[in-house]
Amino acid sequence: MNLLKNKVVIITGGTKGIGLATSYKMAEEGAIVYACARNNVSFDNENIHFLHLDVTDAQKCQDVADKVIKEQGKIDALIADAGIINDALINKMTTEMFNEVINVNVTGVFNIIKAVQPYMDEQKNGSIVTISSIVGEYGNIGQINYSASKAALIGMTKSCAKEFARKGQNIRVNCVAPGYILTDMLKNVPQDLLDKFSSQTMLKRLGTPEEIADVLTFLVSDMSSYITGSVIDVNGGMRL
Ligand code: NAD
Repeated sequence: MNLLKNKVVIITGGTKGIGLATSYKMAEEGAIVYACARNNVSFDNENIHFLHLDVTDAQKCQDVADKVIKEQGKIDALIADAGIINDALINKMTTEMFNEVINVNVTGVFNIIKAVQPYMDEQKNGSIVTISSIVGEYGNIGQINYSASKAALIGMTKSCAKEFARKGQNIRVNCVAPGYILTDMLKNVPQDLLDKFSSQTMLKRLGTPEEIADVLTFLVSDMSSYITGSVIDVNGGMRL
């Protein structure tokens, strides 16, 4: 119950799916959570604060970091979870569709990391977690934009891990790469395809948002104090 006692955590995309489950899990573990997203949500937990944010707006990301510092005096962790899909085969994928996904999934993560990093640098302490995907590692039909964005996050995470700790600061940066997780992101995937994805895992089932939230909680907690620059697969043993 107290794994994250008094830790201040910013979660982009903290209002739906994996981010929502993570907001509740971390609050249950004693964290003060700032759930930031484009869609408004009210939380029935006094330790979760909603902030409206579009991560593609660098100034708004800065405003969020400044506000959290003003209210709490520190930022212990960032979960850069906000992400979108906009799938099509290449002949139907427009440049706009490609750029939109890169803009949210890559530039948006850069924007929020850039906003919190100076505060963590001052504290000489912090934990940042990005969310890649199994398709960032293996690729996927109809997801050239999304898989490119998720592969980019692996490089970004490893670069941040090296750069942010280079003067001995205790700032850890890791990436979680989920397999197929039952959220709204999969709502348009036909059942026969979901069944196929299940059968491609060793555990023969899809994952739940709570199972990703558990790993994110571990990566923010002091129990993962010697883990940085890592990509952790959470995919039921899926191999594509
Ligand atoms: P979801 O669609 O349920 O939730 C996405 C969240 O991101 C929402 O809160 C939404 O408001 C927020 N968001 C989207 N664009 C935003 C923007 N521009 N600014 C701020 N917030 C924004 O999705 P999910 O399934 O919970 O996915 C969460 C993360 O996990 C994403 O990065 C996704 O790519 C990744 N992921 C999901 C799966 C899966 O199978 N569901 C698998 C691998 C990785």
